[in-house]
Amino acid sequence: MYLQRTIRKRAEVSGIGLHSGQECKLTFCPAPANTGIFFVRNDLPGRPTLAARNKNVVATVNATTLGGEHFSVSTVEHCLSALAAFRIDNLFVELEGPEIPICDGSAKHFLEALLSAGMVEQEAAREYIYIDQPIYVGNEEKHAYVKPYNGLRVTCSIEFSHPVIGHQTLDIDINEHSYAREISGARTFGFLKDVEALKSKGLIKGGSTDTAIVLDTETLVNEEGLRFSDEFVRHKILDALGDIVMLGKPMLGHLVLYKTGHDLMNTLVHKILNSPDCHRSIELGANMPEIDLNGRYLWAFK
Ligand SMILES: [Zn+2]
Repeated sequence: MYLQRTIRKRAEVSGIGLHSGQECKLTFCPAPANTGIFFVRNDLPGRPTLAARNKNVVATVNATTLGGEHFSVSTVEHCLSALAAFRIDNLFVELEGPEIPICDGSAKHFLEALLSAGMVEQEAAREYIYIDQPIYVGNEEKHAYVKPYNGLRVTCSIEFSHPVIGHQTLDIDINEHSYAREISGARTFGFLKDVEALKSKGLIKGGSTDTAIVLDTETLVNEEGLRFSDEFVRHKILDALGDIVMLGKPMLGHLVLYKTGHDLMNTLVHKILNSPDCHRSIELGANMPEIDLNGRYLWAFK
């Protein structure tokens, strides 16, 4: 039986907040079985918590923000992305303010912190959301759908009329190894004209070539260059994996994404949760066949 997971001990990630430009800190903490993933605002009276669930998403412009009655947590997707790939079911993410460190704009630092803490299995079976029927959102210009698949796979395409980006497509089976190697290091990106406009409004004070890939009209501003020639589509996959954590359970399915952003991904998650005929809850355990009808080993799910 595949058991739920948390981390073995606390692990910290420090850096600056994208919007405030101020130092901030996040601490991953072990949580009991059947808890789920929660953000905890340590800086507020009573240490209020927010579940990483679709119902708590309050904004999806540029980043995904979770909100409670009097407080919020912004840019959650990069740290959640690492949790999706490593199938961490139960975790408290403690914060000292509303922001999560942007780090280098990728999930690399979050992944390193989780790996340094180590994973531990818990005394409860993990439940997966198994997609039975395709679910679609969007239109011709941009869309996202998920279809049945015995594992977690993402096919993503993007299109930008910028010489450094252009058309990029990547199809990848997500597991701990492929995520660590191919996805976790892909950085977020922005265009210099947008960066300057947002900075003049007092936003993204922490935005720079240290925290993102920055593009001017024709070229890349970052002197160190790209980490992958298709780093942009890889980051879109990183973001999408963060957004599907809002389902509340790990998903088995194939995501097909075309020019998606956080708005569309959260719409898809909402539609999956509201389409009970299209998925079912399953456990993978000792009573399951070792190899499914398509000849895939079930351990690949883990
Ligand atoms: Zn992102």
